[in-house]
Amino acid sequence: MRTDRTVLYLVVPCYNEEEVLEKTAAVLKDKMLRLMDAGKISSRSKILFVNDGSKDRTWQIICEHAHQERIFAGLCFSRNFGHQSAILAGMMAAREKADAVVTIDADLQQDIEALDKFLDSYESGCDIVYGVRNDRNTDGFLKKTTAGIFYKLMHVLGCKTITNHADYRLMSKKALGALSEYQETNLFLRGLIPTMGFQSDIVYFDVKEREAGQSKYSFKKMLTLAMDGITSMSTRPLQMIVALGILTFLVSLGIFVSCIWDWAHGKVVAGWTTTVASTCLIGGMTILSQGIIGEYIGKIYMESKHRPRYIVESMILREEDGEEVQ
Ligand code: UDP
Ligand code: MG
Repeated sequence: MRTDRTVLYLVVPCYNEEEVLEKTAAVLKDKMLRLMDAGKISSRSKILFVNDGSKDRTWQIICEHAHQERIFAGLCFSRNFGHQSAILAGMMAAREKADAVVTIDADLQQDIEALDKFLDSYESGCDIVYGVRNDRNTDGFLKKTTAGIFYKLMHVLGCKTITNHADYRLMSKKALGALSEYQETNLFLRGLIPTMGFQSDIVYFDVKEREAGQSKYSFKKMLTLAMDGITSMSTRPLQMIVALGILTFLVSLGIFVSCIWDWAHGKVVAGWTTTVASTCLIGGMTILSQGIIGEYIGKIYMESKHRPRYIVESMILREEDGEEVQ
């Protein structure tokens, strides 16, 4: 049971969110103030916006808010590093100062009122609380279908993802300390965090329509995230290649025996079609297998470079006892 007032940091990744950011800042601030008044969180709690290399006025809006009110803080990347890196950077920056961090999108799709339940679970001793959406009614057909296929695929591949949980999550200082030990470049937080253990809980919340602006997850970004998720969490595709090889070998053996049988009985072996079909099949499978192996080699290559996962250009965080700008 945790009794002291929790210093809560909300980490909000932002990529070209100028249309929605003013409203988001107001809604999040209102909620944080209500939580402070109710004695649920400390007055040192903050809302930390992470500007992921936006090309619009996002960083300017963040700066204005951070300079006007101490409840707001900002962190700015040198370029776009992606949503996963943005939330990781926010969590790592917040972990020294906060008791608990909640990551939430900038578009107000995730119900902020669920914060009370997150905090209740945290106070009762949970170190990780996963937000899980009740349904996918606000998603378009393409997103709903691809997300459904992706989560099923992840289960088939043996990854412990939590279905319909997408980075709306609370983590305690202790859990963030453990996360900081993971140094991988190929980041898929919603797959990685459930493997960490700790006492955890699930909170269900309703998803709303985006308040303003367009989705910042293009189809390409979604595909990259899915590929990162699979390659970072499972090597089962490589085992599947072995299974495919064994299957092909057994089928070829059967075809070979049948050809010998035909030859022994004086039948003419059918020629062109079978040759072309089998060549194409084997060729296709070989290229596919090489592609899968290549994906993993590419990931090993990137990991071996140990490049920084993100570059922080500047940070504004004003504490009660002075200004801190990096
Ligand atoms: N985002 C980001 N970097 C990116 C893409 C998205 O920081 O390269 C942020 C975005 O600003 C938002 C969150 O990630 O706060 C989720 O993006 P979005 O709401 O567009 O995704 P969707 O809800 O459509 O899946
Ligand atoms: Mg969204």
